[in-house]
Amino acid sequence: MSVQTETFESYEPGTGAVLATFPTLSAEDVTAAVDRARIAARWWADLSWDVRRHRLMAWKSIFANRAEELAELVRRENGKPVDDAMLEIVLTIEHLDWAARHARRVLSERRMWPGLLTANQAATLSYEPLGVVGVIGPWNYPVFTPMGSLAYGLAAGNAMLFKPSEFTPAVGAWLVDTFAEVVPEQPVLQLVTGLGATGAALCRSGVDKISFTGSTGTGMKVMATCAETLTPVLMECGGKDAVLVDADADIAKAADAAAFGAFSNAGQTCVGVERVYVHERIYEPFLAALADRARALRPGSAADSSYGPMTMPAQLDVIKRHIHDALDRGGRAVVGGRDSADDRVVGPVVMTDVPEDSAAILEETFGPTVIVNRVRDLDEAVDRTNATSYGLAAAVFGGDRARLAQASRRLRVGMVSQNSWVMYAGVPSLPWGGVGQSGFGRIHGADGLREFARSKAVVRERFALPISLTTFERKPSTGKLIKALMGVVHGRTKV
Ligand code: NDP
Repeated sequence: MSVQTETFESYEPGTGAVLATFPTLSAEDVTAAVDRARIAARWWADLSWDVRRHRLMAWKSIFANRAEELAELVRRENGKPVDDAMLEIVLTIEHLDWAARHARRVLSERRMWPGLLTANQAATLSYEPLGVVGVIGPWNYPVFTPMGSLAYGLAAGNAMLFKPSEFTPAVGAWLVDTFAEVVPEQPVLQLVTGLGATGAALCRSGVDKISFTGSTGTGMKVMATCAETLTPVLMECGGKDAVLVDADADIAKAADAAAFGAFSNAGQTCVGVERVYVHERIYEPFLAALADRARALRPGSAADSSYGPMTMPAQLDVIKRHIHDALDRGGRAVVGGRDSADDRVVGPVVMTDVPEDSAAILEETFGPTVIVNRVRDLDEAVDRTNATSYGLAAAVFGGDRARLAQASRRLRVGMVSQNSWVMYAGVPSLPWGGVGQSGFGRIHGADGLREFARSKAVVRERFALPISLTTFERKPSTGKLIKALMGVVHGRTKV
C-alpha cells in the first residue's frame, strides 16, 4: 500500500509544457518496493538462463519495433533531436542483445584448476545474482545510460529498482512498463520516482548494490549514504574528456568528430568533448575547420535542429561561469562567447588559448562549449589530458598507429577511441567506466555482467591425500616435504 501523497511534474524543455505527473515516493514506499523486489528476485533467479535470455530478447524486440515511439518521448522530455534519441536507442538494443546472449557464458558455474597443493579438490567458481539492485540514473541519455545497468543486471538474474532523474521519469516509466509486457508474472523491474530524497531512500533501503550514474558531487553523497549500510556502489560519474590531435591527423575528420562530440546533445554528454589539444603544426587549420563546423550549427527545438535546448536550466549558470572565467583569464572566443548562454538554447562556443588552470579546463561544463589549445606534441597532449581529476574517456587522432597506441596506453582514462569519437560505446563486449573523479566499477561487457553478480568459490574433496597440512595429526616430516616441493616447483627463478 502506497503512503506517498506528493507528486512532481516533468516538463518538455522545448516548450516548458508539463509532460506528465509522477508520485514522489517516500522512504516507506521505497522499502515496500524492495520487499516486493525480494520475492521477484527469487523468482527471476530461479528461471533458467534460457528463459531469462528469451524474455530479454523479447524486450529487445519491443525496443526495435517501437523505437520511433520511444525516440519521440525522449525528444519531448529531454529536448534532444529525434535522430540523436534514435542513436542512443540503437546502441541500447545492441547492449541488451549482448547481455542477454552472453550472461550464461560469462556467469554460469565453471570448474577451476585446483593447483598442486590441492590437486585432490574439485574447484568450482559460480557467479550468483546479488538479489535486488537499485539503479539511479541521469537525464542526459535517459535510455542508453540506465540500460547499461538494467540490461546487464537483469541478465545476471537480479531484480532491479530504477530511480530515473526527475527530469526524465516518463522515459524511465516506458522502460519499466515495456519490461512488464515481457515479464508480467513478477515486479522484476520497478520504477521508483521522486527527487534526490527518494534516491537517498533507495540507498538506505537495504538493496544489495546501488549502480549510480550522475555527477561526481551527487556520487559522493550517494557513496556516503550507502556507507551507512555498507551497500556496495558502482559509480559512473562526470568527465572532462579531451580529443588529442597529432600533427599527421586527418584534420577534417578530427574536426568533424570534435564538433559532434562537443555540441551534440547540447554538450550534455558525460563523454562529451570539452577540450581539444592540437599539435602546433596543424593548430591553425584545425581551429578553422572546427570553427566552420560550429558556425554552421542551428540549435533549437525545430525538427531539423542540430541540438536542443539545455534540459536542466540550472546548468546555464555553470556554463556562463566557465565561459566568463576562461575569457577573463586571457582566453579568446573564436565562435560565440559571453552572450551565448543567456538563453535556454545555448549557441556553440569555441574558445582557444584558455589557461590550463581555469574552471573551463578543470571542471565539467556540460554545455555546448569546447576549448582548443595548442601543444608541442602528442606527449604534451597526453600530459594535459591527464592533468584533471576526471578520467572517463578520450579520443586520439593521428596517422601513426604505434604513436596512437602509445598515447592510448598513457592516457589515465577508462575508454579511448582512435580516429573516432565514442565508438567504444557501440562495442557491447567492451567495459564502460572511468577512473578518478569519473568513478569506478564497470557496466557493459563481461565486466559489466560481473558487476551485478557475486562470485562464490566451492571446493569438494575428490579423494584424501596421503599428506595433509590442515590437521593436528600432521607429522613434522610433512611440513619439510611440502617446503622441499615448493622449492622445486616455485623456487628456481633467478634474476
Ligand atoms: P545528478 O548527479 O544531478 O543526478 C543523478 C541522479 O541522482 C538523479 O536521478 C538524481 O535525482 C539522483 N540524486 C540526486 N541527489 C541524490 C541523493 N542525495 N541521493 C541519491 N540520489 C540522488 O546528475 P544529472 O542527472 O544532472 O546527470 C548529469 C551528470 O551525469 C553529469 O555529471 C554526467 O557527466 C554524468 N553522467 C555520467 C555518465 C557515465 O557513464 N559516467 C553517463 C551519463 C551522465 P534527481 O534528478 O531527482 O535529483
